[in-house]
Amino acid sequence: MREHTPQSAVASDIKHLIHSQHHPSATQSPKIWVKGRGSVITDIEGKEYFDGLAGLWNVNVGHGRVELARAAATQMETLAYQSSYAGSSNLPAIDLGERLAHITYPSINHFFFTSGGGESTESAIKTARFYWKALGKPNKWKIISRELGYHGVTLAAMSATGIDTYWPMFEPRTPGFFHIPSPYPFHFNHGFKPTPGNPTPGIAAANLLEQAILREGADNIAGFIAEPVQGAGGVIVPQDDYFKRIREICDKYQVLLIADEVITGFGRTGRWFALEHWQIEPDIMDFAKGVTSGYIPLGGIGVNDKIAEVINSAEFSKRWMHAFTYSGHPTCCAVALANLDYMERNDLVSRAAETGAHLQKQLKQLERHPQVGESRGIGMMAAVELCEDRASRKRFDPAKGYGDKVRGEAAKRGLWSRAFKDNFYLSPPLTTTREEVDRMVEILDQSIKAVFA
Ligand code: PMP
Repeated sequence: MREHTPQSAVASDIKHLIHSQHHPSATQSPKIWVKGRGSVITDIEGKEYFDGLAGLWNVNVGHGRVELARAAATQMETLAYQSSYAGSSNLPAIDLGERLAHITYPSINHFFFTSGGGESTESAIKTARFYWKALGKPNKWKIISRELGYHGVTLAAMSATGIDTYWPMFEPRTPGFFHIPSPYPFHFNHGFKPTPGNPTPGIAAANLLEQAILREGADNIAGFIAEPVQGAGGVIVPQDDYFKRIREICDKYQVLLIADEVITGFGRTGRWFALEHWQIEPDIMDFAKGVTSGYIPLGGIGVNDKIAEVINSAEFSKRWMHAFTYSGHPTCCAVALANLDYMERNDLVSRAAETGAHLQKQLKQLERHPQVGESRGIGMMAAVELCEDRASRKRFDPAKGYGDKVRGEAAKRGLWSRAFKDNFYLSPPLTTTREEVDRMVEILDQSIKAVFA
């Protein structure tokens, strides 16, 4: 790699790179990251920051774990790559499938690998369509998702994504995607009035799915895709009775339930997978991020035995004609195995539950700021939502950009994370200690104070 000063690196970046969510206003003085250890990342100037978002919600084991680097090097030296198209396979992919069958939901035992979350969403949607076509129901191809859901930004995934700022410059969206409102308790529960069919906010929010299915016709709907906890849209933890009712509705109308566990998977919420909190299982699951802790790109879908049987009994001309060059990539799968070893050896899922409970408790104290509407989350996944008036849930004028101002103040003080609208996110590595959590919350506290002083 060429030697760089901070200035030459920025100049070259501006000249040659297009970034995710690219805009020149953000690329003039970028942070250029050069190193990571545990929960701490270092920029090219040598300044250290807490990694408050674990990369992009994915560096679950923390930075700098040499075991993962060694697993990649060893596999690359042995067999860096070979195709895993039907008729070829490799040992790391085989091992990873077996491991995932043990740690995911009991009914999910069959896996297809991708290179990330967006490809996983595409694969899940296509598999849901395939399933119904194979069963002689070709009209069941539409997909319902939720407002504020994030499922990636490839074309179909973008159409499922319910954050509308991703759409306008890339439309038209793929046909057949519909969004229902998010169960967003902070807003949805507020002023809720029970009725006989909708006794609780959770049931009422789930019943919006039933209404959408009835409106579009159950014979036209392939699946419903939802993050167990909406991540990018606000760390929205649903009401406790929401997903049980969702599962009932999906069963009643024969709509496949696709759980997008790209963020929530692999321990982030204090369980291996997040629907465990509500004792239900999906038909298809999307995963990525935490499967390799972001050390190398990998994602995938898991399908239940019923769907696998349909895939496995298709006639050749109607086979599951879906594929990626990098599906089952041996090096990526070897890193995933080392990542799972690290997680198990260090008991990271229960640590995430324990440290996460501490994180949530500490963040609750920030509600003493009048501008904090709510701090919320589950496990090591949290958001602090700013609002103008907590009593009425009145939001700040978005033009004030308070979320981003808090993000900027936190960065100045050594806490790096992201904000969306007026939600500031904290979702550090699962290895983060209580002391580090306390320090991050302290910085956030000072940053909120500074913005509203
Ligand atoms: N689903 C969810 C829930 C996500 O949070 C993300 C990424 N933030 C994706 C899908 C898309 O993943 P990727 O960026 O790897 O395509």
